[in-house]
Amino acid sequence: MNLDLQGIFDALLEGVIVLDAADRIELVNPEARRLLGAAHDVAPGKSLGEALGADHPVCAVVARVRRSGRASIHDEVEIPQRFESPIPVDVAVSNIGDAPRGRPAAIAIAMRDRSAARTLREEISERERQESYGHIAAGIAHEVRNPLGGIRGAAELIGMRSKDERSRKAASLIVGEVDRISGLVDELMIFARGDRLELKNVNIHRLLDTLLDLARLERGHEMIKIVRRYDPSLPEIEADESRLQQVFLNLVRNAMQAMEPKGGRLTVSTGMTLEHRLVGLDGRAQPTVRIRFQDEGPGIPESILGRLSTPFFTTKPKGTGLGLSVARHWVRCHGGRLRIDSVLGEGTRVDVDLPLYAPAQDAPAQDAADQETRS
Ligand code: ADP
Ligand code: MG
Repeated sequence: MNLDLQGIFDALLEGVIVLDAADRIELVNPEARRLLGAAHDVAPGKSLGEALGADHPVCAVVARVRRSGRASIHDEVEIPQRFESPIPVDVAVSNIGDAPRGRPAAIAIAMRDRSAARTLREEISERERQESYGHIAAGIAHEVRNPLGGIRGAAELIGMRSKDERSRKAASLIVGEVDRISGLVDELMIFARGDRLELKNVNIHRLLDTLLDLARLERGHEMIKIVRRYDPSLPEIEADESRLQQVFLNLVRNAMQAMEPKGGRLTVSTGMTLEHRLVGLDGRAQPTVRIRFQDEGPGIPESILGRLSTPFFTTKPKGTGLGLSVARHWVRCHGGRLRIDSVLGEGTRVDVDLPLYAPAQDAPAQDAADQETRS
């Protein structure tokens, strides 16, 4: 049988590279090229170090195998990409066959893309976190709401009965602050209460225009320039208009606040996405709409990126820290997803992906979001 080795390699779902004894590339398949993000540089005849750079993580694994003579497997090595964030890849490197004593052997490198698994893992922990918010919210509401009502009533009574101005002022201060706490508890209750949506056909562009005008009128936002990149062929989507308005307004406010006081451009774009489709309850890919908010603010440090959607996490002196967690909650109820990408010093990009049709209302809405395809 005359085997077409390259043909077999090309058909593999894993990335494979074979090196000769001098670390020159003998064989490389398309998946390996994709994972290494270096389509042109990784070619037969070239040395691996030359193609990737000597300090590349894959070269480091190969060097280790050369030194020890033993196979080596590394989980979720971050493979740098030229214009994208790194891809987590399992890398297995081993010697092929038996080289003559003291002579280097040929080497096989196998690489498996782990981004889908990682996304799924993150999604699951995100969902668990959201559920725990619900429990906490319900607990707080129960324990805090009733006493608050008592405090408010008592303060009003004191205010009405007291004869001097100072006591009356103090009493009304108590009432005001109690109302503020109640407001926060109400907002937190979003996580505990149902997630029923009032669905209708929504024109995303009209909705965006209305709230962009609204947000620009707010103090401090005069220097913001809004750039609209709307896809005119975007269809209406089935959604809860007022919830979506809240989602977008929270994101637009964050973007504008991030650019205070200097100002800058907020680019809002819309379109259908092909490659990042959501998966519906039936397991089938859903036509998906993407709304993107790109600002020119300072960006978000890596160290806090994972905590942004935790209720009450804020870096602002007067922030509530509820904007993003509430936005994420409603996007999930729609069977969609929200992603934040940020580059320090350049700005932040928030993508909201929504299915064209919202998930059926009697089914638990979160299930749709759990089966998202990788992004
Ligand atoms: P709040 O706006 O009340 O602080 P959010 O939940 O809306 O609460 O946001 C949480 C935190 O996330 C903010 O305090 C800020 O640090 C960060 N953040 C959100 N959006 C952006 C953005 N576009 N640019 C920079 N930082 C942001
Ligand atoms: Mg906010």
